[in-house]
Amino acid sequence: MGLLQSLFHKTFAHGIHPPTSKKQTDQLAIRRMPFSEKIMVPLSQHFGAPAKSIVHKGQEVVRGEPIAVADGFMSVPMHAPVTGVVEGVELTPTARGPKAEAIIIKSHHAASQQVMYGADYDWQSATPEELIHQIQETGMVGLGGAGFPSHVKMQVPEDHQIDTLLVNGCECEPYLTTDHRLMLEHTDSLILGIRIALKICGAERAVIGIEDNKMDAVEKIRSRLQENDPISVGVVKTKYPQGSEKLLITALLGREVPSGGHSYHVGVVANNVATLSNLGNLIPKRQGLIERVVTIAGPGVAKPGNYLVPIGTPLRFALEHAGYFGDAIVDASRLILGGPMMGNTAASLDVPVTKTVSGILVLEQTQSSSEQQKIYPCIQCSHCLDACPVKLNPSQLGRLAAKREYEVMAEQFHLNDCFECGSCSYVCPSNIPLVQYFRIAKSVNRERAA
Ligand code: SF4
Ligand code: SF4
Repeated sequence: MGLLQSLFHKTFAHGIHPPTSKKQTDQLAIRRMPFSEKIMVPLSQHFGAPAKSIVHKGQEVVRGEPIAVADGFMSVPMHAPVTGVVEGVELTPTARGPKAEAIIIKSHHAASQQVMYGADYDWQSATPEELIHQIQETGMVGLGGAGFPSHVKMQVPEDHQIDTLLVNGCECEPYLTTDHRLMLEHTDSLILGIRIALKICGAERAVIGIEDNKMDAVEKIRSRLQENDPISVGVVKTKYPQGSEKLLITALLGREVPSGGHSYHVGVVANNVATLSNLGNLIPKRQGLIERVVTIAGPGVAKPGNYLVPIGTPLRFALEHAGYFGDAIVDASRLILGGPMMGNTAASLDVPVTKTVSGILVLEQTQSSSEQQKIYPCIQCSHCLDACPVKLNPSQLGRLAAKREYEVMAEQFHLNDCFECGSCSYVCPSNIPLVQYFRIAKSVNRERAA
């Protein structure tokens, strides 16, 4: 792709250009990870009510079998990632810190990768309502990291008309390459998942948004589309955080989602490529989500790559398989779940990989001396204003946060439009941890409102 050509690719205002750091894994094909001895399936891996266990201690389960049912519409079921014996439902550590209930399965020593459960499903003859139910049965949630149940996201309120399904293939976080590999290696499943989603939301077209650092994926998908296909590919500039749903809608469709609004307010349903390629694989077989592709990378990993990891695999096992043998989260490295910009540090190596974990990164400690970590006063350079993609004033918000004026931040300075992309912190020469301040402010305001 020529430089001149890239100038014409669409984008949004502001944003930043951190090193993409994707070369470590973007040319490596997805590899399957073996089963760990113990699999821990948390009952809450999604936004909404936790699933309800339907298994008991000592019960034999086979790979793909439902082991927990959805507790209402805003919930999803869980399926056994491995054939084995249920050891119980126990409180286990989670990446966020507090323990939560999980179904513990002792893997059978000769467990097969074959999925035992499922049946052919004629999705083309199904109604949109039947397809929404079927999506809930898969246990699918937004695999881009949000964890919102996919069947809820696809159910558009009746008073809104949808004309476009937006498929998010940007994957703008540094290091992560799972979506890139899925677009290259599971192109047909992705296209099938898009056709199913089109049928549900009634949109006349689907546009797949892909950054211009993944032109091989653009070409592969275009080569699989038919003449006059309602699906097309829109190439956007490589820039962080282009993968934000609202920014992608603006860049590709020229529509602004109103503050506090939803994509359906501008006629759009949006989904991530990983979610749709998995649905394209699972729906025609009536199977559940039991594994996902995870990028394991960073300077601290000897065998980086994209691994197809059974849900519930302990982080320690996954990291050891990828060549990281640290005993704990040591000073010299940082363990991040997700991408380095919006991901979270893991509280322990004993937490399971869940449906929303797109990446496991072992990064070098970038700020090793206390002098470098020191926070300096704001010098009014305005770099953070130039970086903020939703045109907030992070410097002003930071000053208010220091005075704990959290309500003023929300009422007068649009704190709730901040989606915590971290661009402001990234560019701040004074090392002010702006995004951490904003997370705390939002969380305090939520608690006060409850
Ligand atoms: S973290 Fe929030 S305030 Fe900072 S750049 Fe991102 S959206 Fe703007
Ligand atoms: S980037 Fe940092 S130093 Fe510059 S104006 Fe923003 S908060 Fe102040």
